[in-house]
Amino acid sequence: YNEEGFLAKDTVITVENLSKTFMVGGTPVRALKNVSFEILPKSFAIIYGPSGCGKSTLLHTIVGLEPPTTGKVYFRGHDIYQLDDDERAEFRARHLGMLYQQSLWVAALPISENIALPLIALGEPSKTALHRANHVLEELGLEEFALRKPAELSGGEQQKIGLARALINNPWLLVLDEPTGNLDTHSADELMQVLQRFHHHSKRTIVLVTHNLLYLPFATQQIYLKDGQVVDSKMVQQELSKVPVR
Ligand code: ADP
Ligand code: MG
Repeated sequence: YNEEGFLAKDTVITVENLSKTFMVGGTPVRALKNVSFEILPKSFAIIYGPSGCGKSTLLHTIVGLEPPTTGKVYFRGHDIYQLDDDERAEFRARHLGMLYQQSLWVAALPISENIALPLIALGEPSKTALHRANHVLEELGLEEFALRKPAELSGGEQQKIGLARALINNPWLLVLDEPTGNLDTHSADELMQVLQRFHHHSKRTIVLVTHNLLYLPFATQQIYLKDGQVVDSKMVQQELSKVPVR
């Protein structure tokens, strides 16, 4: 550590000896066992492994939603669990973008206003927030959806719009938990292409969790989780030519 408390290496995330045990009916379920890794700036990290191996638990722990049983999570050198619940929520709202398997919408509002909401919640004037929402939609090539209502969109379109909403606060880390899990293969490929293009031009740090190995070639870092343990973690060259085109 340097004198400001930062880790010597400029990591976005450092996970140290993380363990998480859930008590289920008096029986301990060890979801994470001594997990350690680092994620460097501009990485496209993919955490992969079979269903039930602890991927979602790991993501929740990383973003400050699930205090670990033991171990530490550092964001740019800061121990996130030194913050209280409110401070962690504020931290997420300001600095993280998140996308899950499914996105929830305010049905009555058009897409652009739905996307603007997280910024309005942060105290941004609605006009500025809406302006930013339209800008993000344009950046992702999704401007045609701005005035549509969520229910008019397919599942794949909703996930792309969900990605736009996750980027509204210009986050320095984008976290995705099986974002293609509910999609047909074509829509899933499309979402991943949008994500890949975003990574390419923004060089933002992305952490994506999936059990689908087809998208591994997008990664610059691959973390293989099995039975709650990291069994392999490596930096890799992106191999975009190996991503399936269907
Ligand atoms: P994945 O996302 O890889 O499918 P999870 O992180 O959801 O895996 O789950 C890992 C293990 O932890 C599973 O055995 C699951 O049943 C257990 N688990 C996850 N969350 C909870 C919880 N809130 N309470 C009890 N057990 C849990
Ligand atoms: Mg999961």
